Amino acid sequence: MKIYPSITGNSFRELESKIEEAEESGIFEIPLFVQRISEPERREIYNKLKKSSISEIPLVHIRNKMDLWELKFLKKKFNTTYFTIHESGFSYLEKWKGFEKDLYLEMSTDDIVNENVKVEEIGGFCVDLSHYIKQKDRGTIDYDYVYNRRDKSELFQCNHVSGYCPKNKEDLHFVEDKSSFDYLKELPDFTFGEVVAVEVFNNIERQLEFKSYIENIL
Ligand SMILES: [Zn+2]
Repeated sequence: MKIYPSITGNSFRELESKIEEAEESGIFEIPLFVQRISEPERREIYNKLKKSSISEIPLVHIRNKMDLWELKFLKKKFNTTYFTIHESGFSYLEKWKGFEKDLYLEMSTDDIVNENVKVEEIGGFCVDLSHYIKQKDRGTIDYDYVYNRRDKSELFQCNHVSGYCPKNKEDLHFVEDKSSFDYLKELPDFTFGEVVAVEVFNNIERQLEFKSYIENIL
């Protein structure tokens, strides 16, 4: 298992600053979250990445509006292995033809499993670990969908990890206190995959501190 800080954000500017910070920190391998970024801005991000010292992007959280060329580009140029999608992504498998087994499902926490969701048709799960504990604490059927497949280890390949507040049963995308990751100690081994991408909006420096903390408690 390898834990990575990630390029995250709500805008081109936020992602750009994390790319620059990653370069300054000598990081050349880093996951990318572009699910909140519009197409013109994604093109700018791709250009920025091409000119950067980043050479490997093991995991990309994609958005449904993304076209096949973007997946091809990311896989070819940055060796992306894991493209993570939401339940609604199953409506776009036709568009991403040939990439089905490169797609990994992140379950929502809304107590609804979309009827066309069939994780066996794609690469497997990207268990968002903070979603998993939230689903468990709230007793949702999203949790059952994952838990009922716990013996199929081949489905559990990669993860997102955010903070969690047990009191409010909420995941945290901006973490102030490292103890927000303590819930990870309670999670069963089957939920963890090979690649774990920290999914918080904090800067890379802070994410690296979280990475060390998580490595120490697991
Ligand atoms: Zn996530």
